[in-house]
Amino acid sequence: MSKNLYVISGPSGVGKGTVIREFLIRNPGFMLSISCTTRAPREGETDGINYFFLSKEEFQRYIDQDKFLEWAEFAGNRYGTLKKFIDQCLALDKNIILEIDTKGAMQVKSKMPDAVLIFIAPPSFEVLEDRLRGRHTEDETAIQKRLDEVLEELARAQYFDYKVVNDDLNRAVNKLEDIIRRQDAQR
Ligand code: 5GP
Repeated sequence: MSKNLYVISGPSGVGKGTVIREFLIRNPGFMLSISCTTRAPREGETDGINYFFLSKEEFQRYIDQDKFLEWAEFAGNRYGTLKKFIDQCLALDKNIILEIDTKGAMQVKSKMPDAVLIFIAPPSFEVLEDRLRGRHTEDETAIQKRLDEVLEELARAQYFDYKVVNDDLNRAVNKLEDIIRRQDAQR
């Protein structure tokens, strides 16, 4: 693999999506994988852009057909990365970004040891809880499930190659750019 595969994880509500979006605006040559999920679309989300929204049966069929590089269950729903997308990007010699949970990140690292794992951390647990509630995209039950996942996600941060604290968007994106620039220079 001549290009890098960057796996970006972090607890729900940490703002990884925003950091990655800003990174991609500044670095348009990177390919962001579109995951499959059994979660229902949120308002404003579009099939094939934010996710491929699958039924539970379709997702199970994809597992049976070995279509996923990795997949994991998160807060009651399943999420997976398609092998096909990764293969296509590698064939085109493109840098790839996966925004996935920490369980999925561990699977990618064991299958593709050259993958670079970056953990986006919150300044504190309280800030994270406030952000998760403040975005109003989940009901209370879903928020509780996501908060239950947070401690597990934070515990897995030790297995990541780099950590970026998202206390300020611009600072976090700058740090991400620094990490990626350094990694790319090593290729
Ligand atoms: P959300 O429902 O907020 O979009 O995503 C919930 C969690 O699932 C986030 O931590 C997100 O990074 C993760 N996720 C999204 N796509 C994938 C995927 O393909 N695989 C895995 N393992 N996690 C994913």
